[in-house]
Amino acid sequence: MASQSKQLQEILDSQPSYRRKQVEHAWFDITINGYDEISTLPKEFREKLMVIPWNSLEVHTALQSKVDNTRKYLFKLIDGNMIETVVMGRKNLKDDAVEGAPDRYTICVSSQAGCPMKCVFCATGKAGFKRHLSAEEIIDQYRFAQRLLAKEGARVANIVMMGQGEPLLNYEQVKRALSVILANTDLGETKITVSTAGVPAAMNKFLTDEDFPPVRWALSLHSAIEETRQQIMPSHKKGFLEWLVKWAEDYHRRFPSRTHFIGFEYIMLSGINDDEKHLQALITLCKKIPYFRINLIPYNRITDEARPHETINTDGFQLFDRTPPELITHWHEELMKAGFTTTVRYSQGQDIAAACGQLRNKAE
Ligand code: SF4
Repeated sequence: MASQSKQLQEILDSQPSYRRKQVEHAWFDITINGYDEISTLPKEFREKLMVIPWNSLEVHTALQSKVDNTRKYLFKLIDGNMIETVVMGRKNLKDDAVEGAPDRYTICVSSQAGCPMKCVFCATGKAGFKRHLSAEEIIDQYRFAQRLLAKEGARVANIVMMGQGEPLLNYEQVKRALSVILANTDLGETKITVSTAGVPAAMNKFLTDEDFPPVRWALSLHSAIEETRQQIMPSHKKGFLEWLVKWAEDYHRRFPSRTHFIGFEYIMLSGINDDEKHLQALITLCKKIPYFRINLIPYNRITDEARPHETINTDGFQLFDRTPPELITHWHEELMKAGFTTTVRYSQGQDIAAACGQLRNKAE
């Protein structure tokens, strides 16, 4: 964790607990632009806080899509590490039909600088792990987007923890960040999705952790066949899929509401996990699990235009072929026929579509 976060915690720990709440509340007040402006705090306490930066993120690179207003930010943290955050334009949602209602955006937030999970299709995994983010650094990604969008009369409507890192390896800081965001904004718990590659110890801990907000979960499944999952996700542990069925039962016993469906993310890699055998394996697995949704993700192949057939890109990052659209449609239809709610995610901001981690890898 960055030393500024530790320093902030030390200052807050020396105060009564309501002072911490006042500070956290002020972070989300867009009319306040520094600790010296928090008028509810005594002057000497404000002076102590002035050694801490008001926001821990500095914009290193900003890209804006001309297609759908999606923006991608590469932030430099105070210790020089880099993280990515995406602000995804999402208009035409049902309740945006109210005249004058602000445009609503989803933000994709990072939980670690780098990631130790090493998924073979992911540029962040390729670059390796740097460190966990502090709760403040996670919160600051929300605060950055909140202030950016407020200037445009828009707001953050959803948070997905699908940026860099495995959130469950940074369990306590993620838990604290989400708790603070929920306590100080109008976001509901089911407007937040934590996405994991699958960390059984932390997933079990969550089931009995009354303090972890009851947000939604998404699991990066990517294959319902153990051998294939192991091949593309080296963090996969033998027996995980069988364990997942049991965990999902326990999860739904604790959260019986249908709004707490589990999202299964499935990135489609041609010739790797997209044949009939894999489709049938997914159907068989899903039949054992109640309340889930499947999200098929077309692979985002980023190559140099001059080297379109390479299997390794200029960063030394392994490339796969894209599953043809008609095969994705076939999967979609078969999964729907099997009775499963299934969507195909076409990534937003196609014209700035550097895959997760590539912006950071280039900058570093
Ligand atoms: S896909 Fe997610 S969990 Fe896997 S290496 Fe990339 S950031 Fe980590």
